[in-house]
Amino acid sequence: MKLSKLASEITESPTFALNEEARQLRERGEAVINLGIGEPKNKTPLTAVIASAAKLTSGDVKYVAPDGVPSLKKAVIRYTEENYDRLVAPENVLITNGAKQSLFNIFYSVLNPQDEVVVLAPYWVSYKQMIKMCMGVPVVVTPEDGTFTPRFEEIERVVTSSTRAIIVNSPNNPSGVIYPPELIAKIVHLCDSKGIFMICDDIYHKLVFDHNEAVPAYHFSKNDIESSHIIVVNGVAKLYGMTGFRVGWVIAPRELVRVMTNVTVQITSGVSPISQAAAEGALTGVQSMVEALRLHIQNNRDVFLQELSSLSGVCLIEPQGTFYALPNMRAFGNDSEAMSQFLLHKARVVVVPGKEFGMEGHIRISFAGSVNDITEGVARIKWALDPTSPNEIYIGDKRLVRDWL
Ligand code: PMP
Repeated sequence: MKLSKLASEITESPTFALNEEARQLRERGEAVINLGIGEPKNKTPLTAVIASAAKLTSGDVKYVAPDGVPSLKKAVIRYTEENYDRLVAPENVLITNGAKQSLFNIFYSVLNPQDEVVVLAPYWVSYKQMIKMCMGVPVVVTPEDGTFTPRFEEIERVVTSSTRAIIVNSPNNPSGVIYPPELIAKIVHLCDSKGIFMICDDIYHKLVFDHNEAVPAYHFSKNDIESSHIIVVNGVAKLYGMTGFRVGWVIAPRELVRVMTNVTVQITSGVSPISQAAAEGALTGVQSMVEALRLHIQNNRDVFLQELSSLSGVCLIEPQGTFYALPNMRAFGNDSEAMSQFLLHKARVVVVPGKEFGMEGHIRISFAGSVNDITEGVARIKWALDPTSPNEIYIGDKRLVRDWL
């Protein structure tokens, strides 16, 4: 079959592929533990359920404004004022089908063929693919010191006349690190001085632990929204655990929002009003659930760190936010794909290979699930990797036998 070169070059999503494999194993009765998926287990906030149910039962579910229903935009404007200390206009807001569509739409709207986007490793899997889909070129910066935080000089070094944007995801998926405010400030100034966009993927910005804070890029810019090079992407998926509603948004200069709206009109005509009502319900309802979720995830992180600490050979930079950790597994082998397959098939635990995030030799472990999953999942990983552990264990009536990479 003849398919487009552009589409054929897009790789399968490793997370979705692993989840599918795990689902099939589960269907066969295997006790699989999924430490691969990035979604909290909480129920949808009640205010979101009520608001979307009301929209549905009204029977008035039609096309709506492609850039987002005005009342949700209003809620996003209030959110931006409260969390970013920026007053923006409705014309600066675009509601999208998840943060994913926000990002794709941004790349599509700012890139000409061969334009470059600086991507900081470790990076979220979709950035590189999306940039390529928009005929751009991802330029990856990998911290030379082995940490997950690039030095500013490493970023500055790759900026050329072809650079159109730098994408910054802090708190970071997959490492959980938060970039220091000084680095954010320097990137803001670099982008302003070079006239390139700083795309801030803030989808985890409130999921931070201990006394850490992800200081917004706006904090370091004196420019008003129209002359700013900062573009903020956010959504309800992670903070409210509303992954299935598919609602995200972009805050950007109105000229860019206008172009992105035209793109949206041609592709999706906007987001379902039922989902938009749910997002509005979440944003305008009691916010204590966000804090409850944060505390729950922080506790999960603590349990995870405690459990993993007894596996010698693993090096870990402690996550300061998100629900991911990216341990260095080189003591057991450099091939993270082989490691993930090994853990799935021998220990029935799903983790994601670090290679997908630009960090070979690491695996991404999610601690978004239940404490039981984390405790048992890590116990199985330890069992599978520790040469002094017994050769077989039983999980329920399933016998697991250790094998080697
Ligand atoms: N950015 C990052 C860093 C993510 O981890 C994700 C989801 N895994 C997204 C964007 C996409 O979010 P959404 O579900 O709202 O499309």
